[in-house]
Amino acid sequence: MPSDPNCIFCKIASGQIPAQIVHEDEELLAFKDIHPKAPLHLLIIPRAHIISLQDVDASHAQILGKMLVLAPKLARENGSPDGFRTIINTGRVGGQEVYHLHVHVLGGPAPVGRMI
Ligand code: 5GP
Ligand code: ZN
Repeated sequence: MPSDPNCIFCKIASGQIPAQIVHEDEELLAFKDIHPKAPLHLLIIPRAHIISLQDVDASHAQILGKMLVLAPKLARENGSPDGFRTIINTGRVGGQEVYHLHVHVLGGPAPVGRMI
């Protein structure tokens, strides 16, 4: 499984850095964002070090699908049963800060702020 020793999310995936983990399986991990922008703010990541959505091809279709399928389940289980927002920031133009692919899941009992 590809891993980058300098990557903060790889360190979370390997247990070197603690996080409030809400889901883990062989391929995916989900945990609470350290600076939540909504009452519920989760990050879903692949365990494998995939840099960004600019770095995927057809071989990643299954893992990308699994990340999105997990989002509504985790939103329901973590206090956001009536919907949520998903965001993937990609690259410099997309404002990506951590270069390990992740899906933000933002939710809460009340509507969360929107950009578009
Ligand atoms: P990006 O801007 O790359 O889409 O989002 C990166 C997110 O990772 C930010 O929302 C930031 O708060 C979160 N984050 C950065 N470092 C850590 C960390 O060490 N632990 C956790 N749980 N979240 C982090
Ligand atoms: Zn990584």
